[in-house]
Amino acid sequence: MAERLQKVMANAGVASRRASEKLIQEGRVMVNGVVVTELGTKVESDDSISVDGKLLKKDEKKVYYLLYKPRGVISAAKDNKGREVVTDYLKDVPERLYPVGRLDYDTSGLLILTNDGDFANQMMHPRYKVDKTYVAKVEGLITPDSIKKLRNGVVIDGKPTSRARAKILSRDAKKNTSIVSLTIHEGRYHQVKKMFDAVGHKVQKLSRTTYGTLTLDGLTSGEYRELSHNEVRELL
Ligand code: URA
Repeated sequence: MAERLQKVMANAGVASRRASEKLIQEGRVMVNGVVVTELGTKVESDDSISVDGKLLKKDEKKVYYLLYKPRGVISAAKDNKGREVVTDYLKDVPERLYPVGRLDYDTSGLLILTNDGDFANQMMHPRYKVDKTYVAKVEGLITPDSIKKLRNGVVIDGKPTSRARAKILSRDAKKNTSIVSLTIHEGRYHQVKKMFDAVGHKVQKLSRTTYGTLTLDGLTSGEYRELSHNEVRELL
């Protein structure tokens, strides 16, 4: 059965479907030795596909990892400016991995990496309401009223956020900072920082501490571990 090139690439663990589309548009993908830049291109199972000259293995085992991403690392498989990327921390893993979604450069915490394109797409789809908890250190002493606003939804980029869980963990009057935990299931661009901005608190430090049932327990910054079948299934 003929399938779209970007779908075959994502399934083979090259990148997410959207990132695969970009690779195609950039002219980095060849089908049977011919560069293809058209996104609608369909391929058959016996077509030979290569990315950056490297032949694609279509039946690579699907693997799933959890990384405690350090601050100051890019959530990508590759950076064209040569900066440190998250896959640098999983060099011992032979499969070609890419991150499921993104954490900002200056955000630390729980990040999943996989070579399973379908899984990555599902996780990033808003229909899959996977709860993610963030712990933020923000400027100023946050009030219960602001916490209520965060819970009920604030408008960011012209659109209200869904209901969230929010809790003050501590407040430091001397330093004029607060630590707040915020659990959301959406994944909009810079969502957490923008939500705090919307209630007048700039985020100084941000970390993702949970993703669905997963936590960072047992890991320190920069460490990773493989997810079990059960842990992956629980996310779906
Ligand atoms: N929200 C943000 O603002 N940044 C992240 O890295 C993740 C969620």
